Amino acid sequence: VVTVGVDVGGTNIQVGLVGDDHTVVGRAKRPTPRKGPTSVIEAVLNAIAGADGDAVDIEAVGIGIPGAVHGGEVVQVPNLAGWDEPVDIRTPIGEALGVPVVLGNDANVGLLGEWVAGAARGHDDVLGVWLGTGIGGGLILHGRPYDGSFGSAGEIGHVIVRSGGALCSCGRRGCVEAYAGRRMMAGAARAMVEAGRSTDLFDIQRDEGKSRPTSKVWARALDEEDELATQLFDAAIDAVAVGVGSVVNLLDVSLVVVGGGMAEKLGQDLADRIFEASRPWMLHPNPKLSFAVSALGDDAGVVGAAALARADLISG
Ligand SMILES: [Zn+2]
Repeated sequence: VVTVGVDVGGTNIQVGLVGDDHTVVGRAKRPTPRKGPTSVIEAVLNAIAGADGDAVDIEAVGIGIPGAVHGGEVVQVPNLAGWDEPVDIRTPIGEALGVPVVLGNDANVGLLGEWVAGAARGHDDVLGVWLGTGIGGGLILHGRPYDGSFGSAGEIGHVIVRSGGALCSCGRRGCVEAYAGRRMMAGAARAMVEAGRSTDLFDIQRDEGKSRPTSKVWARALDEEDELATQLFDAAIDAVAVGVGSVVNLLDVSLVVVGGGMAEKLGQDLADRIFEASRPWMLHPNPKLSFAVSALGDDAGVVGAAALARADLISG
């Protein structure tokens, strides 16, 4: 018997068959359709069928989705094409598979994975920061996942670090994501090229065969000491650091886990850099406070989603 963890990302849908000990025993990956919820539901079911090679018994499905989830329903999905209003994706998937389906925010679910089986094990108060297309965040407080009164807690990406600052994907200004989200960084790079700056970023993108600057593309540009990429990345680190320092001041967590695509490419160095840059913003930086890169990497989402589904089974 396995639990299925599904991680619906802006680019890919990942499915993992996860055992009781949080190990992934089967997987599948599909591109995320851009035609709205129905096509995403089909892709999720298709991926689960693809992962279930041995037709093992599935007891429940947990799904991490890049949006606000409240009361088990998807409230808002700003980062997936065609999701303009709340959509019930639990019922069709549950009916198709005949098992309970639980939903969570993708960043919360990723942190849950790190908490049950990765870098955050044993910590009662944790901030998770996920650096990818956007900036996701999650919280563990008092030894349990915390999603707030309305399901929207932990949005470190939309903590304001500069009043009246750069325009964010959320429509507001000065958010962490406006400086550190990969999509916004690519936009800034394009604007700077149009204004006459040069960079190898987009040549690297073509060379890697990507349709946009991925984490891999950024990592290579940084490695090759591309000046513009380095400048944008330094600004990204600064923005994340101001946000993280403020969260530490507010919540006094003992651990900050740094995950997402950029973390996978840059490793513990990225966590260390954010730690160093955020320390000056902290009122009482405790010597025991630590920063760690995600230990599960790409698997954090599926392991966490499965853990969410299993916890829901236990609590009934
Ligand atoms: Zn924002």
